[in-house]
Amino acid sequence: MRMVITGGAGFIGSHLCDYLIEKGHDVICVDNLLTGKAENIAHLIGNSQFRFIKHNVSDYIYVDGNVDCVLHFASPASPFDYLEFPIQTLKVGSLGTLNSLGLAKAKKSRFLLASTSEVYGDPQVHPQREDYWGHVNPVGPRGVYDEAKRFAEAMTMAYHRYHHVDTRIVRIFNTYGPRMRIKDGRSLPNFMCQALNGEDITVFGNGSQTRSFCYVSDLVDGICRLLLSNEHEPVNIGNPSEITILQLAKEMLALTGSKSKIVYKSLPEDDPKIRKPDITKAKKILDWEPKVSREEGLRKTLGYFKTVLHSATECKSDA
Ligand code: UDP
Repeated sequence: MRMVITGGAGFIGSHLCDYLIEKGHDVICVDNLLTGKAENIAHLIGNSQFRFIKHNVSDYIYVDGNVDCVLHFASPASPFDYLEFPIQTLKVGSLGTLNSLGLAKAKKSRFLLASTSEVYGDPQVHPQREDYWGHVNPVGPRGVYDEAKRFAEAMTMAYHRYHHVDTRIVRIFNTYGPRMRIKDGRSLPNFMCQALNGEDITVFGNGSQTRSFCYVSDLVDGICRLLLSNEHEPVNIGNPSEITILQLAKEMLALTGSKSKIVYKSLPEDDPKIRKPDITKAKKILDWEPKVSREEGLRKTLGYFKTVLHSATECKSDA
């Protein structure tokens, strides 16, 4: 099949490119490299199954020839990024989704939207099932991402119902693994880099808020199963193993053997207090559940971060 992946140079998008190329598909990666990185796809340049188009999908998307699937993964995706790029985040979730759906409609292709657990906001139902409508502050700093993704879901369902586009919606929970940006601002890369550099580990609030972290290969497997299914309603893909952020910080210290101190900083506005996916639906209709334990996933991720931090230090000392 011929696949278009918007945001294909990002953390998750680039893993999807690898997976689909490995399965024998042709991949057209469209990315403006705002938060994606050329290094994530450098190894694919020159591969006849791969093409890169540097383009902002909030503007009209032109792709020649037939397209079998459009996977819309373009968006800033960390709270740190939404603060830096609020308008771009709103635009890619709204106009970018509209353009990606328009491409899918014109090419009569299947469409998959990368949505998010952020549609549940600061949830009042736990764990979160797909039929929970969420608790989002539309005017808070996270609203630019949350509302853009909620709009994107509404737009996707409208194209499905009105234009009969063959759509899928995946709600992605916290995901980690190689190719996360070291300065991404999220807890896991922050803690890992801080531990490796011997810097203070910055826990926001008292660290009692929870998250549930899924290793990227499990996520990609779930997304591809959803793409091949007939499900049009949203499906949660995430790892239900829930921990507090303080526990994550402590696991990071144990894993790295670091002497870093844990310090407490103020909790960002509208920070969700709890988050854990209910994956009953994915288990039932996709026969999917995560396989990689946090211990194994963190070890694999640590190998990547060590290499990146090492080359960053080398670059500094070369300069
Ligand atoms: N967090 C933290 N220290 C950091 C970065 C994040 O304690 O250096 C907290 C953050 O406030 C949130 C949790 O860790 O409560 C998970 O944040 P992350 O940015 O990883 O993801 P999200 O909030 O989008 O789930």
